[in-house]
Amino acid sequence: MSLIVGLTGGIGSGKTTVADLFAERGAALVDTDAIAHELTGPQGAAMATIAAAFGAAVLRPDGGLDRAAMRAVVFSDRAARTRLEAILHPLIRQQSEARCEAATNAPYVLLVVPLLVETGSYRERADRVLVVDCDESVQISRVMARSGLAAEDVKAIMATQASRADRRAVADDMVLNEGGLEALMPQVESLHQRYLDLARAKPHAGR
Ligand code: ADP
Repeated sequence: MSLIVGLTGGIGSGKTTVADLFAERGAALVDTDAIAHELTGPQGAAMATIAAAFGAAVLRPDGGLDRAAMRAVVFSDRAARTRLEAILHPLIRQQSEARCEAATNAPYVLLVVPLLVETGSYRERADRVLVVDCDESVQISRVMARSGLAAEDVKAIMATQASRADRRAVADDMVLNEGGLEALMPQVESLHQRYLDLARAKPHAGR
């Protein structure tokens, strides 16, 4: 198995932006959010079970998951949230594991897990944890600009996630993303070189 770097960070920290910069340099990306979207899209592998558990009210006409309807259900019903997670989490874990194993052509894998700090099992699977870090006020303004949400809504989402301090406490490596893209490049470049070295040193790595 190749070297696996778990990448995480709060909403709006810049995970996707940073992951893309590593991918440009040759890292394989395995993104658990993207996998969750595939599983719940039209003909997604989770949809038959979700439909059986929650009924047609959470389906879109194309058979994919109606996210707004599903959010409304789990928002007010903790048991429903647990049921949904019990369907999705094992499938996401399976898919991400298979994709990490299949990525033998890349020198290392960047496993993007937004809630890596909150869910211990991904932390165990990663050889290293890379945290995209930024001030909480920067997160808020980025998400407001991207989604049109109000500051209060963004803060409510952030309150359900690990704190900046929690993430920093588990980080092996960190990218500080408070400036523009120019400030990111040298940080990504130097970590990429480090990961190439570590990948070469890892026993039984793909190459
Ligand atoms: P995440 O995946 O962690 O939610 P994104 O990578 O999607 O975060 O970034 C959130 C928003 O902020 C996006 O619109 C992105 O284009 C912007 N952004 C992130 N980092 C930077 C940066 N260094 N310079 C300019 N814009 C950025």
